[in-house]
Amino acid sequence: MSRKAPGGVKDLARKMDCRIRSCLSGRHPGLNLNVGVKNPKQAHGIPPQRLKVTGDISKIVCISDTHCMHRALTNDIPVGDILIHAGDFTRYGTLSDAEDFNHWLGELPHKIKIVILGNHESSSSWNLRASQVISNAVFLRNSSLILERDTGIPPIHIYGTDFYWPSKDGNNAYGLIPADTNILLSHGPPKCGVDGAHGCPSLRKAIDEKLHKCNLFVCGHIHYAHGVSLEKKLKQTVMTPAKHAVNGADNQPRKDMTSPTTLYINAACAGHHRELKYPSILIHCTTSEAGTLTFSPSSAK
Ligand SMILES: [Zn+2]
Ligand SMILES: [Zn+2]
Repeated sequence: MSRKAPGGVKDLARKMDCRIRSCLSGRHPGLNLNVGVKNPKQAHGIPPQRLKVTGDISKIVCISDTHCMHRALTNDIPVGDILIHAGDFTRYGTLSDAEDFNHWLGELPHKIKIVILGNHESSSSWNLRASQVISNAVFLRNSSLILERDTGIPPIHIYGTDFYWPSKDGNNAYGLIPADTNILLSHGPPKCGVDGAHGCPSLRKAIDEKLHKCNLFVCGHIHYAHGVSLEKKLKQTVMTPAKHAVNGADNQPRKDMTSPTTLYINAACAGHHRELKYPSILIHCTTSEAGTLTFSPSSAK
């Protein structure tokens, strides 16, 4: 497992620490489709991206906050079906950092790669064309990816948010997250066990009250809070539509025994001063006969 020594001037690193970089909260006019959605109202009508997946989805590799140290991580990244990067892949949001990250992504073997922006990229000069810059992954920004699986197996709905600072008073963007989301990605954490006490109450409220099928949440941003936390959901019952019935054996809607827990992952790889400090996090994914997705962390590579 390779590790890079801390680099750069410490004072500069402190200035760039994502937890205190409040100057990057500016708003930008949005564009269509999955780029440039700073105004959450513009997220309405963004069509989900769809990928047909053959075979099982059993391993998900999560990384975040690589801050341009991605190449030093290469040997630490296990093989998996999905690779998720939860933002802050550049140091200062420069295009050259983003392009190098994209080239590196192209060298990885994972069949599905998904990227969202962190605060270091969300106000960059190229952020409105981020989906073109990050061309070697599915780029999500207040938009969905639906993984369509073999007949009889429910699809996996993945949603990635734009970057937002924490809010106690609600955030319209979170109201746009589809209720059928199974995996939610957001650079900043909600209030949870891996938020370093800086999580967003509004995002947690949305997860608890609306996202009953969301069993996996992946974030970064609060570097020192890297880790995993399994937390109880609010009690609820979900009915799976008949078209998703397994084996086509019956056409009646059925109770979906949605997992009573959500696994919260803070996949930040950088330490407090943006030195490479933490490894990737590997998640095992299983699908029950009723179509319920269950996620569990693994230390095995
Ligand atoms: Zn960061
Ligand atoms: Zn950040």
